[in-house]
Amino acid sequence: MGEVISPVDGGRLGEVASASPADVDAAVGRAAAAFEGWRRVAPGDRARLLRRFAAEVDAHLEELARLEVRNAGHTVGNARWEAGNVRDVLDYCAGAPERLTGHQIPVPGGLDVTFHEPLGVVGVIVPWNFPMPIAGWGLAPALAAGNTVVLKPAELTPLTALRLAELALDAGLPEGVFTVLPGRGGVVGERFVTHPAVRKICFTGSTEVGTRIMAGCAEQVKRVTLELGGKSANIVFADADLAKAAATAPSSVFDNAGQDCCARSRILVQRPVYDRFLELLEPAVRAFRVEDPARETAEMGPLISAAHRDRVAGYVDGADVAFTGSHPDGPGFWYPPTVLLAGAPTDRHWREEIFGPVVSVLPFDDEADAIRLANDTEYGLSGSIWTRDVGRAVRVARAVEAGNLSVNSHSSVRYWTPFGGMKRSGLGRELGPDALHAFTDVKNVFIGTEE
Ligand code: NAD
Repeated sequence: MGEVISPVDGGRLGEVASASPADVDAAVGRAAAAFEGWRRVAPGDRARLLRRFAAEVDAHLEELARLEVRNAGHTVGNARWEAGNVRDVLDYCAGAPERLTGHQIPVPGGLDVTFHEPLGVVGVIVPWNFPMPIAGWGLAPALAAGNTVVLKPAELTPLTALRLAELALDAGLPEGVFTVLPGRGGVVGERFVTHPAVRKICFTGSTEVGTRIMAGCAEQVKRVTLELGGKSANIVFADADLAKAAATAPSSVFDNAGQDCCARSRILVQRPVYDRFLELLEPAVRAFRVEDPARETAEMGPLISAAHRDRVAGYVDGADVAFTGSHPDGPGFWYPPTVLLAGAPTDRHWREEIFGPVVSVLPFDDEADAIRLANDTEYGLSGSIWTRDVGRAVRVARAVEAGNLSVNSHSSVRYWTPFGGMKRSGLGRELGPDALHAFTDVKNVFIGTEE
């Protein structure tokens, strides 16, 4: 049994049974059996079932959002967006079954065609920071491509995934097509990796665990998609709209209390505007509303757990704190938005993923210096570039080694554009027009026509 705690007040939300290795084997067996039927469901019918699933999520959007506010401490505004994102990803992927076309390739002596075959059972492993969207990004394209799915939510945040599984059944998805198995990473997640009937792992989480999973998958040449950590740069050039860059910087890193793999946690500011940028940033950080995440006005809630708060605080101890925001008193795992001045790019808080509401600021000299500093990290997930010079925006966007960049904006996730990391931030891409291909293998068939 795993106890589920609310980070908002430390209160107990209930207990969820943890799956054992035998439970996983039984569920994978059911998913493998269900695969034989699911892959044969006519494309239009599979599409209709996914649309019904999306409609069920939409009909329960507020319930799912409120569950996430309590279980993960997300602001209610964010949690509504997250439930809506599951609906949208299901809807988007529901357009795929009838469009999953192969090629017809000219060859002598016959006909050559390709098929995108489903893989079988797909294991989706989800972290605690975005329980709903990350579940949806794996399960929706996997199901649309004709696979069945076993999904393990994070130990701390199993509630919305369990509810999604109920909604899938209500929508008419056959038993065994989508199964949620709460439990320990080292038990349920590891069994997904070692079970021979699980043909692909779709993992989101830390680079450390992702590296182990990739090694485990290698033994069976199991397909794997990895969405891992980040330490993304927010590069502010002297010619930028400084007021806008400063006003938007807090939400680009403190949203979801900084527990966001895309958090712009390193701000690089060109030296002539460094002091002015910090002057503009301070009131924006102080005004950032950290409060009960159930309130409509909340911009940030608590951290996920007491242990995580201690870990985040460990990065701030002894660092050069420029200024901080506020947080409510009382129970709950609160931590204030915090701005640190980096003395050098060797500072620990500049290099490591903190995964909390802490941002480090460092000045730079010119374009080449900005690119060098931005790329001086093992990660490569996202980033932002603020400049009014279009040529420079394009040059820098091409030079920064990250999978998702935005210019004069901090947007990085849209369900219809690809998402994923370079370097140690991950392998493969989710979302967007090609997401389904990560859940299929191409088969080539030659049909001889010679008499
Ligand atoms: P984590 O790696 O500790 O856990 C992620 C999931 O893996 C959990 O469900 C956990 O139970 C499971 N797990 C743990 N050990 C396992 C094992 N040995 N085998 C199989 N599964 C195992 O990560 P976390 O602390 O839950 O999440 C935070 C991390 O996730 C951060 O590093 C963050 O950057 C990353 N993240 C990345 C993205 C992205 O898209 N790139 C998105 C969100 C979070």
